[in-house]
Amino acid sequence: MALLVQKFGGTSVGSIERIEAVAERVIKARQCGHQVVVVLSAMAGETNRLLGLAKQIDAIPTPRELDVLLAAGEQVSIALLAMALNKRGYSAVSLTADQVVIHTDNNFNNATIHEVETQHMTTLLGQDNIVVVAGFQGRDIDGNVTTLGRGGSDTTAVAIASALKADECQIFTDVDGVYSTDPRIVPSATRLDVIHFDYMTCMARLGAKVLQLQSVEYACQHRVPLRVLSSFEEGEGTLVNFDVMSNQNIIGVALQRQQVLVNITLPATVLNEQLGLYGLTAWNLSTNSSDDISQIVISNDDLARLRLVFDSKMRHIGMVSILSLIGKDIQQHLECIQMVLREAGIIVHTYQGDKKCLSLLINEDDHLAAVDLIHEKFVVDGQCLGNLSHLAVS
Ligand code: ADP
Ligand code: ASP
Ligand code: MG
Repeated sequence: MALLVQKFGGTSVGSIERIEAVAERVIKARQCGHQVVVVLSAMAGETNRLLGLAKQIDAIPTPRELDVLLAAGEQVSIALLAMALNKRGYSAVSLTADQVVIHTDNNFNNATIHEVETQHMTTLLGQDNIVVVAGFQGRDIDGNVTTLGRGGSDTTAVAIASALKADECQIFTDVDGVYSTDPRIVPSATRLDVIHFDYMTCMARLGAKVLQLQSVEYACQHRVPLRVLSSFEEGEGTLVNFDVMSNQNIIGVALQRQQVLVNITLPATVLNEQLGLYGLTAWNLSTNSSDDISQIVISNDDLARLRLVFDSKMRHIGMVSILSLIGKDIQQHLECIQMVLREAGIIVHTYQGDKKCLSLLINEDDHLAAVDLIHEKFVVDGQCLGNLSHLAVS
């Protein structure tokens, strides 16, 4: 008998039919003799709907109240799944984060889990229940509701798996594993059977939203066995672990869309300090720290908050995308990558990276052509090649 934590995302619980299908899936694991803790997201579109309601009232809603609102989405799906399991003769108990208890800091809208109490869940499991926990939410030291940032149910699942010392944390989603790039954008993307935690961290940080970055970091730090699977079909999915040896140079390509290029009338050092103070993450393009004007790239989602801080000092320049390649000693291929893009008429404004990743700033309009081309040339054609320089002329 194993103890499994199974997390199902928004699309996987997007309708009553889907919730019934999830119930069947969970029962299968029970019938194999496993104990199961299920973690759920809100039904597809629900968190956005709630966010939309809040924004009709205020473009930047009070963070505490926003969390009270957004946490409601997950409470609906856990109750519905518990009902579906009960109807099928399996006792199931739904729990909010406050009932578990999942302790977080008080950084509303983007809280960090500090501790997950296990006693309540362990007692329920011992009484033969399936435990169904609301993802994405927590409570701070004062009893306030907090949420963990978009996609945060992944992190709830990993944190629970870690606290309960589960045998595996299984993230069920609408694709059957982690791919070399988003399979919804590039149909020729290939599924990875295994991926090393280091590369998965890079993929998640650079836009592969199949796993929330914090969940990968948490799993890596606490050594939680992590697997990504489809909730729609059977299969082994992708295992994220520490022992993978890959002879492939380039593991994957990730894309961050809806990025904004902004000029701010402040020297880079002052600006960086201010950004950090307000918890804003940006790619600062300024090379000369004494210049009066800095140029940054920031997610469109953060633009309203940026305006709130810098207001008249900022000027919106245009929309861009960040295309990233993830793999071994990736910088050595920079020239070749730039050449391939240049030949296709795609401008690389600038780049940054380290040994495991290389990020290129391109125009928003070029993102589809660029990801397709780079994936084809460097992941599909470039497999197992030590030197990829010939690809630019092929
Ligand atoms: P869930 O609602 O189950 O949490 P998400 O929408 O957060 O699902 O994540 C799954 C989506 O991640 C997929 O539908 C896919 O479009 C996207 N994705 C982006 N990059 C990758 C990748 N490298 N491999 C697999 N899926 C990816
Ligand atoms: N419901 C939240 C979101 O849409 C959390 C999650 O799905 O993981 O971001
Ligand atoms: Mg997700």
